[in-house]
Amino acid sequence: MTARVLIVDDIPTNVRLLEVRLMAEYYEVETALSGPQALSICDSSEIDIILLDVMMPDMDGFEVCRRLKANPRTQHIPVVMITALDQPSDRVKGLEAGADDFLTKPVDDLQLMARVKSLVRLKSLTDELRARAVTGQQIAIEDSIRAMDKINTAGGSILIIDTDQRHAERIQGYLTPEHDVDILTHPADAVLQVTGMQYELALVAMSLADFDPLRVCSQIRTLEHTRNLPIILMADEGDRPRVVRALDLGVNDYISRPIERNELSARVRTQIRRHRYALELRQSVNNTMAMAVTDDMTGLYNRRYFDRHLSVMLSKAQSQGRDMALMILDIDHFKAVNDTYGHDAGDLVLKEFATRLKRNIRGIDLACRFGGEEFVVLMPDTDMVQAELVAERVRQAVAERSFEVDAGRPISVTVSVGVTLHESEADTPETLVKRADVALYRAKREGRNRVVFDAA
Ligand code: GH3
Ligand code: MG
Ligand code: MG
Repeated sequence: MTARVLIVDDIPTNVRLLEVRLMAEYYEVETALSGPQALSICDSSEIDIILLDVMMPDMDGFEVCRRLKANPRTQHIPVVMITALDQPSDRVKGLEAGADDFLTKPVDDLQLMARVKSLVRLKSLTDELRARAVTGQQIAIEDSIRAMDKINTAGGSILIIDTDQRHAERIQGYLTPEHDVDILTHPADAVLQVTGMQYELALVAMSLADFDPLRVCSQIRTLEHTRNLPIILMADEGDRPRVVRALDLGVNDYISRPIERNELSARVRTQIRRHRYALELRQSVNNTMAMAVTDDMTGLYNRRYFDRHLSVMLSKAQSQGRDMALMILDIDHFKAVNDTYGHDAGDLVLKEFATRLKRNIRGIDLACRFGGEEFVVLMPDTDMVQAELVAERVRQAVAERSFEVDAGRPISVTVSVGVTLHESEADTPETLVKRADVALYRAKREGRNRVVFDAA
């Protein structure tokens, strides 16, 4: 996976050094020699990850980072702070400024590549969600992207996996009472433990007695339920190759022993914030997508979605020479239902009708509310015989039992159905709908409560 990396450092030699290494791994590289220059590049072009020097004259890296994270246009770009001082306080300051990670000078090759790789992967995930959000509806999404800042990071539900009980308790002590922390000293039970609970973070010790910590991590990553659970590895000094492997397996972060309390809290907070943010984003994308394509009253797909879907399905049927049927259903004398029982009862009839419709079509069929009391069902891989079967079953399911929507006054409802098949290369969504409509019209004319076919 390649990406565009922006290197920011006031010393040209440092920039060049990183540039050469990243280019050797086929990353695209942009460079900036000052904070303001970096901000303007990020604002005007697509950057996937930023390597940011802390010590720069005029505007230091912390300030650049804060500004990037405060700008909705740039706040999703991962920032790696690069500091010459191996000072825990500097790292914490960086993470608090919103940095996603940090590296210390001289930058270690292995670490550089591991961190860049893991952040690029995270970014491509959020990019995908953002892109989907754009095709859905924009406003709600933009709001939730801005909400990243406001996400509360307290009260996290954390699991420590460590065979060393005393060490685990010390870490637990660092994190409480801000978070709820469980300890698991039997790594073999890890999968069971994480699937039963809604954890937001796992802290896994690298030195587990008789147990491979990377196996624990990969098991967590493999399970559907815990695939997105953030993992921080508590790494041992001098076990870099395994840390790199772990990052490749999708471990989100690591912290080296001896564990420094402030750095731990900052890293924990960062992971919890990201996790909660991703959840919210995903939820919001789902909601907006659902809203954009479904009809509120019946929960069926709406007309807009149907139109889009029909043209896709029709080209597919045409290019692959497959069958496809389409039926339009219109409730008979529905105006009389409204007039007799009231508009609210009419609404309930429409809902119940939708329920019966859904129950009597197949999983592959797509049902939509076309408008008012008119519905349409698209049936892929369906020939005349099958289409008739489905249409007739729906007609009967409506007519055979009255609708009990108005206390004590069952309402008899019937429906007329027009069916057509996709027949030639010349068919368009419009001609298909038109033919089904002509068939429906005939069903009405011939006495309603019936299914009529229209062959071209
Ligand atoms: P036909 O058998 O010829 O289809 O007769 P009809 O009365 O069903 O047809 P018409 O198109 O004349 O009337 C449809 C009625 O459906 C009129 C409209 O007020 C009602 N209607 C459309 N949408 C809704 C809705 O969402 N709720 C309710 N309660 N009524 C609706
Ligand atoms: Mg009608
Ligand atoms: Mg009508």
